[in-house]
Amino acid sequence: MKELIGLSKQELEDEIKAIGEKPFRAKQLWHFIYNQGLTDFDLMTTISKPLRKFFKENYTLSRPKVIKNEISSDKSAKWVIELKDKKKVETVFIPEEDRGAVCISTQVGCACGCKFCLTGTMKLQRNLSAREIVEQVMVARDTYNEWQNAVEEDNRVLSNIVVMGMGEPLHNYDNTVKALKIIMDGDGMAISKRRITLSTSGVADKIPLVAKDLEVKLAVSLHASNDGIRNEIMPINRKYPINDLMEACKEYQDLRGKRSYITFEYVMLKGINDKLSHAKELIRMMEQYKIKAKFNLIPFNSWEGSEFTCSDDRDIIRFAEALMKAGYASPIRVSRGRDISAACGQLAGKNANYD
Ligand code: SF4
Repeated sequence: MKELIGLSKQELEDEIKAIGEKPFRAKQLWHFIYNQGLTDFDLMTTISKPLRKFFKENYTLSRPKVIKNEISSDKSAKWVIELKDKKKVETVFIPEEDRGAVCISTQVGCACGCKFCLTGTMKLQRNLSAREIVEQVMVARDTYNEWQNAVEEDNRVLSNIVVMGMGEPLHNYDNTVKALKIIMDGDGMAISKRRITLSTSGVADKIPLVAKDLEVKLAVSLHASNDGIRNEIMPINRKYPINDLMEACKEYQDLRGKRSYITFEYVMLKGINDKLSHAKELIRMMEQYKIKAKFNLIPFNSWEGSEFTCSDDRDIIRFAEALMKAGYASPIRVSRGRDISAACGQLAGKNANYD
């Protein structure tokens, strides 16, 4: 049985043409799959019975197996999804005041090996396919019953997407782009590019492509104010040092236009990157490269075996104040979902033990 989820619009049309049907059938299918969220061909009543039967016999719209779905006391949620090859991947819902973001994964494990990140300890196992990326959003919509026919866009809780889960999306570029184009398509799930943020650890040569191919918002896991510290905690910095990263960010921003800004994620690690001098270095960096920036300060969530601890509250506040004084919005992230390990850098299923 051939999987239809994950085919691009063009691929779906080609598939339908190949079985001798008119292209508008592909449009109908696309609508049923991505707008209505149907998984049963029999419910596609505007398609003739014989054709539905053919679809049923040859194609599948099945969802992946969700082996765990936890809802935290603060309403954040986590899904552990078992892929066909039994590997596991995690998706998280992070509620905000009235709405919230679905945080999706793009790889099983991650090759980047950031020292503060639990996923980094898993090493890269494999890239996710476009289908496996899209399905995470579909599973979340199923859980919250937020398909188009059920809830109007303005009332949806799952309003945003952040590509910030397991893996480095720019190391799985083609599948990530394909998946996001499906998610953004106006005839389907129709999640606007303004509501999607892609987060990278700094794959500099791909960053401008995000502006060209997707036009989504960009977040960069910066976490250090100079190459010395960044080399220590983020091995990717040895390949793409801060200068290359900032040049790429500037290019992204030039392509996206004046109103765009980049969010820099900055995990607060006690005694490592949390001094006032580091905040000043960050300010100089943004000024030097003329980058319109916002900082997200993330109190470090300790995990078993981690070599770091979280900065003291006093130091985090002082750090934020220095950045804000220089004109940079610098919210301190309230960690959501700690009790289900759904917070940043914890997406590895508590050392991948899902039992
Ligand atoms: S922080 Fe992101 S890029 Fe770094 S190891 Fe973790 S998942 Fe990979």
